[in-house]
Amino acid sequence: MGAAISGKAELLPVEQDPVRFTHLRRQQFNLLARQATRSPFVIAIVATVLAYIVSGHAPVYQVVLWAVALVALLFVRRAYALRQLNKPPVDVQRALGHMMWFAFGAGLFTGSAGPLFFSRLPDVERALLTMILVCWTAGGVSTAAAYARVFYAYVAPALLPLVLLWVMTGDTQSVAVAVLIVLFGLIQVLFVRDNERVVRESFLIRYENERLLEALERERQEVMLARDHAEAANRAKSQFLAAASHDLRQPLHALSLYSATLTMRAVDATTSEIAGHINQALASLSTLVDSLLDVSKLDAGAVSPEIRRVNVKELIERIEADYRPVAREKKLAFRVAPVDAIMETDPVLLERMLRNLVDNAFKYTAVGDVALDVEVDESSVCIAVRDTGAGIPNSERERIFEEFYQVGNPERDRTQGLGLGLAIVKRLARLLGLKVKLVSQSGRGSTFSVTLPRAEGGHVFPYPPPATAGEDAVALVGVTVLVIDDEPSVRVGMRALLESWGCRVRACSGYVEAQRLLDEHALEIDLIVADFRLPQHENGIETVRRLRERLGDVPALMVSGDTAPERLREAQESGLPFLHKPVSADKLKQTMLAVLAR
Ligand code: ADP
Repeated sequence: MGAAISGKAELLPVEQDPVRFTHLRRQQFNLLARQATRSPFVIAIVATVLAYIVSGHAPVYQVVLWAVALVALLFVRRAYALRQLNKPPVDVQRALGHMMWFAFGAGLFTGSAGPLFFSRLPDVERALLTMILVCWTAGGVSTAAAYARVFYAYVAPALLPLVLLWVMTGDTQSVAVAVLIVLFGLIQVLFVRDNERVVRESFLIRYENERLLEALERERQEVMLARDHAEAANRAKSQFLAAASHDLRQPLHALSLYSATLTMRAVDATTSEIAGHINQALASLSTLVDSLLDVSKLDAGAVSPEIRRVNVKELIERIEADYRPVAREKKLAFRVAPVDAIMETDPVLLERMLRNLVDNAFKYTAVGDVALDVEVDESSVCIAVRDTGAGIPNSERERIFEEFYQVGNPERDRTQGLGLGLAIVKRLARLLGLKVKLVSQSGRGSTFSVTLPRAEGGHVFPYPPPATAGEDAVALVGVTVLVIDDEPSVRVGMRALLESWGCRVRACSGYVEAQRLLDEHALEIDLIVADFRLPQHENGIETVRRLRERLGDVPALMVSGDTAPERLREAQESGLPFLHKPVSADKLKQTMLAVLAR
């Protein structure tokens, strides 16, 4: 494709390129034919004037016949030209040949005015006749400019008889006039040649431009097609991931429930250690599924930012609270600058982005410190995550933001991460309209920073309070929980885990079974934990709504492995807390406590 566009230098001479040559000839013919449709009217006037001048000296029938024959020929040529313009000739070279014959005929008729009238005219009229004929041929210079040969076929028969007549007159003056006519004819020939060259070049340039435009248009279409394919592939990938992650989440969720129960009930040290390992493996598997889900949601355009006023101090303190223990464990200093300033952004998405950056800072720093700095000026708030860790070589700066790309982890050791953290950061930044700046030196630490627009005070996004640990052990004892899930293994796992926290558990697969349970046992339900996608297209939100009609406003929360964007939105709109499978035991406990406390 590039070759088609950059082909100017490789163009063959037009005569050796049949396509361009035919195109050129067609254009020449069209211009010539268009001129031929106009010229008869002007020439009819000139012929009438000439006829009037000579009419007193030659027989009228001769004068009339000459003028009528000439004008008639021109009108025949006009008709021919019109027909060819309406229905372009198949053989354009032949049509040009016809135009040459017409020109030759017109030249003969025009030039015959000499032999017919010259000898009968007095000097003044001879001079007039000569002047008119010479001017007449000069008119042909522009009308025949498209194709010089047509002019040559015309000018020779039009002027040569006149030249001979002047020469035959005999005196020096007359010969001088003849010479002047010849010179004038030659100059006209030169003009026509130059004109034809200009016309040819302009036709060819236009042709090339059109070809380039066509090539560009084709290229544009191809690029658009490729983009559409890429977008469709990306959508398909996201849909596939969303579907696959639902199916992955179900067993993963059941597994995490079992393993949490196992940890709590471990009777000896070996079982406890095995349970610990299972938990660890599950945690990294859950992280992978969550990260994949995040990437697929962001790529599918299922996340739209909700811009609020956010106090940077509150955000920083939330992150600090979660990472203080990590810093302690890794014996790293954790410096945090709690500056009070309001900015405008999506609080949830920004927090997710910063957490990924802080997570990396701790992960890739062995000694020294990690800092979460905030710098504020009149219009912006700059948040920087600094570390004194491994640093990032210049050559890797772009690539670390690609999916699954990790520096120095070719054996893909999962404990070193998945290579999705910065891919998510990049997508979130794009969504929030932010630019992530990276300053780093190999071996000397890195600084990732983002700059956000500052906002006036006013209502600030209220971050939910962190879940309180401690009193939970007691708070759940004796609570009756109705678990609704169509997956038997999840029901068993949930029962085991919730009972280990002291809950009373009733489990069922959907609304009908829940009704039966309630009828049979006259139960008082304290909390409903419902799956989102239930059998026979039953929807967990709807099930909770219908059960609440019977039970009153019972606290409820949703657990789902369904990640389709529409489903997520629906869940959000219901106002019910929504947990993604697999749910860790801690997360479940915190959310249950929070819902019960409302
Ligand atoms: P992961 O951390 O799971 O490997 P990321 O996408 O978060 O994936 O990061 C990609 C790569 O970028 C990492 O493998 C790491 O080599 C490099 N990297 C990211 N953050 C830092 C940092 N703060 N210091 C040094 N290297 C980093």
